Amino acid sequence: MSGLHIDPGTLPPECETLRREVRAFLAEALVGIPASRRCRNWSGADPAFSREMGRRGWIGMTWPKRYGGHERSALERYVVLEEMLAAGAPVGAHWIADRQSGPLLMRYAPDTLAPRIAPLIARGEAFFCIGMSEPDSGSDLASIRSRAEPHARGWVINGRKVWTSGAHRAHFMIVLVRTGERQDNRHGGMSQFLVDMKTPGLTVRPIINQLGEHDFNEVTFDDVVVPQDHLIGAEGQGWAQVGAELAFERSGPERYLSCSQLLLEMLAEADPDDPRQAEALGRVVAQYGTLRQMSLGVADMLARGDNPALAAALVKDQGALVEQAMPEVAHALFGGQADPDSNLAFAMRYAALATPSFSLRGGTREILRGIVAKGLDLR
Ligand SMILES: Cc1cc2nc3c(=O)[nH]c(=O)nc-3n(C[C@H](O)[C@H](O)[C@H](O)COP(=O)(O)OP(=O)(O)OC[C@H]3O[C@@H](n4cnc5c(N)ncnc54)[C@H](O)[C@@H]3O)c2cc1C
Repeated sequence: MSGLHIDPGTLPPECETLRREVRAFLAEALVGIPASRRCRNWSGADPAFSREMGRRGWIGMTWPKRYGGHERSALERYVVLEEMLAAGAPVGAHWIADRQSGPLLMRYAPDTLAPRIAPLIARGEAFFCIGMSEPDSGSDLASIRSRAEPHARGWVINGRKVWTSGAHRAHFMIVLVRTGERQDNRHGGMSQFLVDMKTPGLTVRPIINQLGEHDFNEVTFDDVVVPQDHLIGAEGQGWAQVGAELAFERSGPERYLSCSQLLLEMLAEADPDDPRQAEALGRVVAQYGTLRQMSLGVADMLARGDNPALAAALVKDQGALVEQAMPEVAHALFGGQADPDSNLAFAMRYAALATPSFSLRGGTREILRGIVAKGLDLR
């Protein structure tokens, strides 16, 4: 019988020293950044801020030194992420590269691509995007149709990706494509490649989201040629590799701290003598506290080398649930009262439009619950 066990995470004392250092940096670095930008959380991007994080050793924190990393613990990394998210720092440019692309390259291209590319990521100079979803293949990722064929100079890729976050500012994409037929195994015949976004034949077109912002894109490949050594891992092993990548994608504190500005604004505006507000906000804070313990537990699992896929799916689903309820909590407590030009009103409007996507990106609610049910032997 499989099971789910998450040890509540605790932070060692050295983490608190680091936390103070990060807070002091943010207090200066974010002066004057308005609520409208802080609300964007890890969707907000500022390449100069990413380079400064790289200079401070806060990207690639846990990676080996030979890859430009800093060999610090997963929990120290967690503290840096948590502080960045709570402050609404513009970490979006390097986020994907630090979270999953760098680790993927170190694992599956340790002697070829990783020594060249990972140090650039750690310096905040190389940004990545994820080329998985296609127009008719999101949850059913195994049905992708984009394809790479052998070519005199390596491989040639044709196809189309959608919802590609940050493709317009990324230097590289890790793309999942078909290199063989499915045959009996519907997960067979897929491979991952590193693609330089400046390669001829690759076109990035914006898709404007319901906030009116340009965050994700459509990316088309018309005879895009990539060198042989840009194949990541083994040909045909793309599905297993993507599974490992998604565990990184789903396990971080951003899965319950994407709406932190709204919580902070509500707490700042709350009337300490209002029992209704105290009860509602107390409940939300308790939910955040529980999610934090679970999320720290997942960080611990990653640090131990355990597979956190099941636990990460659960934390992501529960995190999205709590954050998607926040606009309603805010409306019930402050609707019609907040000054329309206040930070609170802005955070409320932003969260109302942003939170619906939280249970889509990184795997939908139904897909995550399917993973949890399977992991618990319930289906
Ligand atoms: C903000 C945002 C950023 C994104 N960034 C990226 C990115 O950078 N790179 C990338 O590759 N993709 C990205 N995506 C795409 C995302 O991964 C997909 O939207 C997601 O996987 C769902 O796929 P879909 O949109 O095709 O919906 P579908 O798969 O068509 O799902 C539609 C609905 O049907 C349900 N459903 C589907 N299959 C089942 C099933 N078997 N059982 C029960 N219910 C089911 C789903 O849960 C959902 O509710 C992003 C999406 C968003 C919203």
